[in-house]
Amino acid sequence: MSAKSESECELCEAARFTHWYSADDTCWVADCDACSTPMVVWNSHGVEPSAEQIDHMVTMLEDAATARFGSGEFTIDRHMRQMPWHFHAHARHPEWLTRRWTEPVSRYTGVGGTRSTASTLT
Ligand SMILES: [Zn+2]
Ligand SMILES: [Zn+2]
Repeated sequence: MSAKSESECELCEAARFTHWYSADDTCWVADCDACSTPMVVWNSHGVEPSAEQIDHMVTMLEDAATARFGSGEFTIDRHMRQMPWHFHAHARHPEWLTRRWTEPVSRYTGVGGTRSTASTLT
């Protein structure tokens, strides 16, 4: 897979379709639209954030995943399968693949707040 430039990168685009848990100057945390799992994305196009930035991003992701799944009910997955050109990480629940197909996807309703899905919105 060849690297994509910033202008064609889905992570730089940061389209807001799913629930956004948080966002700041370094990163944003939202449900991944491919696997419906909380994902942190670095604000910069590239794969070499500093150690401090990685710590910060993992903490943001853990906060979101703890709110969604509960403490210790997930693992941080930093393997970048789909988009290896832009730093991101997933917090995966052990049943994420099943949940991906059985639970409704979340909807964007603003950064933070309650996570809404198609079935909870009227
Ligand atoms: Zn994903
Ligand atoms: Zn990018």
